[in-house]
Amino acid sequence: AQSAKESLYIVSQYAATFFVKQLWETDEGKAIGLSYFKERGFREDILKKFEVGYSPDVWDAMTQSAVNSGHNLEFLEQTGLSIKNDKGKIYDRFRGRVMFPIHNFTGRVIGFGGRTLKTDKNVPKYVNSPESEIYHKSNVLYGLFHAKKAIRDLDNCYLAEGYADVLSVHQAGVENVVASSGTSLTTEQIKLIGRFTQNVTILFDGDAAGIKASLRGLDMILEEGLNVKIVSFPDGHDPDSYMHHVGAGAFKIYIENNRKDFILYKANVLLKEAGSDPIKRAGIIRDIVESIAKIPDPIKASVFIRECSSLLEIEERILLTELNKMRSAKL
Ligand code: ATP
Ligand code: MN
Ligand code: MN
Ligand code: MN
Repeated sequence: AQSAKESLYIVSQYAATFFVKQLWETDEGKAIGLSYFKERGFREDILKKFEVGYSPDVWDAMTQSAVNSGHNLEFLEQTGLSIKNDKGKIYDRFRGRVMFPIHNFTGRVIGFGGRTLKTDKNVPKYVNSPESEIYHKSNVLYGLFHAKKAIRDLDNCYLAEGYADVLSVHQAGVENVVASSGTSLTTEQIKLIGRFTQNVTILFDGDAAGIKASLRGLDMILEEGLNVKIVSFPDGHDPDSYMHHVGAGAFKIYIENNRKDFILYKANVLLKEAGSDPIKRAGIIRDIVESIAKIPDPIKASVFIRECSSLLEIEERILLTELNKMRSAKL
């Protein structure tokens, strides 16, 4: 007999294929979904590669189609694709949204992110599949299946926030990119990257939330013993919006030439926040040393202490004292 997990993979793949068909072959899908992607500047080959789709704005179109094709409702419910309400009525989780299937790193569909096409602020921008037997969101990186070969070959992994970012960075010809999509970055996700490369380059949104998330993310990456660089984007752009703003060629050059190491990045961000307040400026030094203290390898840490010393014009000896205090406090 088929395992329960296998059945969930099968209904998930059914739904992915259904959404793809809706996008390319139905009037509603073409008029609403496909034209949305086109207006955002996505190329057809990228849409096909990532198997994006469209969920019709109908109560239970996907569920009906799946059940009519012989799929078991119970498995559809277990993936969260179909939901039973209090009155026992079945409906689709995803309706009237453009669909991003989430693959595990062997390429099987395990869940979905669905983006609304409405501008109504009361409608959540993204709806994601819930946790299931096959989808554990803290262990999944969106785009890893399509990126893993390039990550190994180039020995670097770009890490973005969202689905659209992954597609747009690919469209710019940069294939070693994944996103933490649907969750804030987890240690498990960093360990997953570590199976392919020791080098991560953060491409988070240039808004306040993205900058805050990047500071947290870089500490987590350092703690796992990986190397981290950061590219920041101007004017609140995210990688997706910036790629479409400057074009594919310029974008690729931008991210290759604007990688900052974490000392320089943190110093820039924190100095901007502190302004001319001398006490806040002193706090920055401690804040940066705190990040250095997370690096497990003492030789690497000492290299960053030296850089920090010359950048902030503080004696290395003082920074080392601070570093050792933090390290022993951690033990
Ligand atoms: P787009 O470019 O389509 O507007 P985005 O990826 O830039 O989307 P952000 O608001 O920057 O969207 O969010 C980053 C990621 O966080 C999204 O791609 C999605 O995975 C997740 N996310 C955003 N909003 C929600 C939400 N309301 N519920 C669940 N996940 C969300
Ligand atoms: Mn954002
Ligand atoms: Mn964004
Ligand atoms: Mn975006």
